Amino acid sequence: MPKQPDRINLLGLSPSGLETFFESIGEKRFRATQVLKWLHQQGASSFDEMTNISKSLRQKLAEVADIREPEVVLEKISTDGTRKWVIRMDGGSSIEMVLIPEGSRKTLCVSSQVGCALDCSFCSTGKQGFNRNLSAAEIIGQLRVAIRSFGPFDPKDERRVTNVVFMGMGEPLLNFDNVVAATELMMDDNAYGLSKRRVTISTAGVVPAIDKLAGLSDVSLAVSIHAPNDALRDQLVPVNRRYPLKELIASCNNYLKHLNDKRVITVEYTLMEGVNDQPEHATQLLKVLRKMPSKLNLIPFNPFPNSGYNKPSADAIARFKQIIVNGGIITTVRKTRGDDVDAACGQLVGQVEDRTRRSQKYLSVLQLDASDETLTHAGEG
Ligand code: SAH
Repeated sequence: MPKQPDRINLLGLSPSGLETFFESIGEKRFRATQVLKWLHQQGASSFDEMTNISKSLRQKLAEVADIREPEVVLEKISTDGTRKWVIRMDGGSSIEMVLIPEGSRKTLCVSSQVGCALDCSFCSTGKQGFNRNLSAAEIIGQLRVAIRSFGPFDPKDERRVTNVVFMGMGEPLLNFDNVVAATELMMDDNAYGLSKRRVTISTAGVVPAIDKLAGLSDVSLAVSIHAPNDALRDQLVPVNRRYPLKELIASCNNYLKHLNDKRVITVEYTLMEGVNDQPEHATQLLKVLRKMPSKLNLIPFNPFPNSGYNKPSADAIARFKQIIVNGGIITTVRKTRGDDVDAACGQLVGQVEDRTRRSQKYLSVLQLDASDETLTHAGEG
């Protein structure tokens, strides 16, 4: 493994983190705003480009800091316009990222971890096991890569990336600090300036982390439910054994209560034939959805080799949807996109090294003690 420079990568510092950094090197805090704009609005890759900063400060910065973006190893464009990248991170592991165009909306699906420890039964990322958390720089670097793929950097160009969802590899709330720092940059007017309604963290339901997020951030929240009762959810989403539906719903309601606008939780429900797609599941799910302000996003299962699951028929999907719609809940069915480049949900596998050992360590920490500290640090090392 090549030795990494120990200079601090400024790409990953949140707006307040950058102010603290400038203070720590004896400079004024307002430098943070200047540098934020250079990094995230101009796409600067060197300090030399920062022409409103004195040469001596630029030199000082080059000594203690750098600007390191993850390396793109592959870019594919699907016939439906979906773009997919394989991106190599420090240390050699790679992750996948997708940009999905739909009308004027371009949604970037970013990864937060290399692999995932949660082991949901139908997710191919989970089958890869867990390797490590991505740094904030590696997360925000994904957005930079996507924006630059359209030509010279211009994040104000609305047409490039309009929405970001943390629905790639990993459980974002188990990489709490780095994900929060990255979302702050995404939503900051001096950086990417995306609206808080257009940046969404998707979680399998790590309740203490949702509670920690409440009041700290106003990012939008999606929750992967996938089953309308604990018995089934315990099987499909094992983290449910630790944080059952009732606690999850209470935590979601608490999160919404802390927001100063009216928003709903996006509930994700992957439909698997004969598993959770029956009318009685829909009826039960409706009761769950009524316990919090929500809208439903149905995801027909995306197959991968040896998954053991199938996608339901179009009729079964339509029937399921109708029951929920009749109950008055806004429901969308996610179209399968980027199929020809393996870019659909749950098909993002990247290349995960050294997986089993780390996964076990990670999960055992989670089950024994999911206090704030372990949530933030369990994945490191
Ligand atoms: N850990 C986060 C992000 C995961 S990926 C979470 O659980 O929300 C985003 C969504 O894709 C999740 O709802 C996940 O359950 C779903 N998904 C995973 N594998 C899938 C598959 N094979 N087919 C359809 N959806 C899948």
